[in-house]
Amino acid sequence: MALKAALLAEQKAEVEQKNQQIEHARRALEEKAAELALTSRYKSEFLANMSHELRTPLNSILILGQQLAENHETNLNPRQVEFAKTIHAAGTDLLHLISDILDLSKIESGTVTVDSEDLSFEHLRENLGRGFRHEAERRHLEFSLDIEPELGTALHTDPKRLQQILKNLLSNAFKFTEQGSVRLRARKVSSGWSEGHDVLDHAQTVVAFEVTDTGIGISPEKQKIVFEAFQQADAGTSRKFGGTGLGLAISREIAGLLGGELRLHSTVGEGSTFILYLPLNYVGADRAHSARAAQAMAQTSSTQEPPVRVLEHALERVADDRDLLAPGEPILMVVEDDARYASVLRDHGRSQGFRVLVANTGTEALRLVRDYKPTAISLDIVLPDMLGWTVLARLK
Ligand code: ADP
Repeated sequence: MALKAALLAEQKAEVEQKNQQIEHARRALEEKAAELALTSRYKSEFLANMSHELRTPLNSILILGQQLAENHETNLNPRQVEFAKTIHAAGTDLLHLISDILDLSKIESGTVTVDSEDLSFEHLRENLGRGFRHEAERRHLEFSLDIEPELGTALHTDPKRLQQILKNLLSNAFKFTEQGSVRLRARKVSSGWSEGHDVLDHAQTVVAFEVTDTGIGISPEKQKIVFEAFQQADAGTSRKFGGTGLGLAISREIAGLLGGELRLHSTVGEGSTFILYLPLNYVGADRAHSARAAQAMAQTSSTQEPPVRVLEHALERVADDRDLLAPGEPILMVVEDDARYASVLRDHGRSQGFRVLVANTGTEALRLVRDYKPTAISLDIVLPDMLGWTVLARLK
């Protein structure tokens, strides 16, 4: 009896010790999770700031490179014009890379929101057709977009993100196909995605977008890595075909955000098929996703601020044309806090025949718009990607 009691006590002590060990491990895991969430927030904030800091000087390089390449004063020789074109092309590649890195890091850190709405298949077909028909003709490739009528007229998803994936798949298909065809087919399916997928398994209708090409294909080993960031099927790919190696990584992440999945079938020398499975009506996952982001934020919000500072640009005043404005003149307003870049844009605007107003901040821009609005015949706000904010106006 006493032996039994001693044995029991010993067992109890052992269980307690195990429990303590588990508790320790749990706490250590929680700490690690919080640390990771914090790191990933630092990382995405850092990248967001970085990318702004990189884009600003890069835009100056792009605009000046282009101006040199245009050789208006015909004082450059053909070789120098080629150099200027190379500066512009390399700068453009870099700009794409920066945008892709930022996009991927935002998605990975859970700070991307999904904006779902109805998207008509007709609209989707027109957009994709417009983007690729010309390339298909130029390259003598067959190109078709088939959307099965059984899908109905529309789907409910984030239109921008869906088109980002499909455009990426189509542009890869064109890039890696010398002859034959590139086809996109959308149809209703009841299987094909990974078993146990929690959204697709429960979706009322699943649509499969299949992008099929007759291009070089991807070997089985490479199929495992092409969805990873910066992976290209062969090391020489980027030199021969261009590209960042981020498109598929981004597409796969977005497919997940939209409640779906991206899969690949391919045979070397015959071609590839990328299949995007999506619920026809996307609901719910955005809530789950933002809850996850909120959780990560809650875990980290009590700790210190991220060690990231936006570089402070001296708010220098760039001399502009505000004292020269005369009736009838077209005005370009540049809103930019980097003085050097603002003066590049100012000069570019002037060379295009505008009087240019430069505002350092959004507030200053609004004040200027208010000041000039009563006298302006037309006031258009345009947001070209490369130039940042610009406002066009014409005075009475
Ligand atoms: P990028 O095209 O910018 O290099 P992606 O992430 O879109 O980056 O693609 C990664 C790699 O996968 C490509 O470099 C290429 O090697 C391979 N790949 C993607 N799509 C195809 C395709 N349709 N046919 C053959 N290879 C492909």
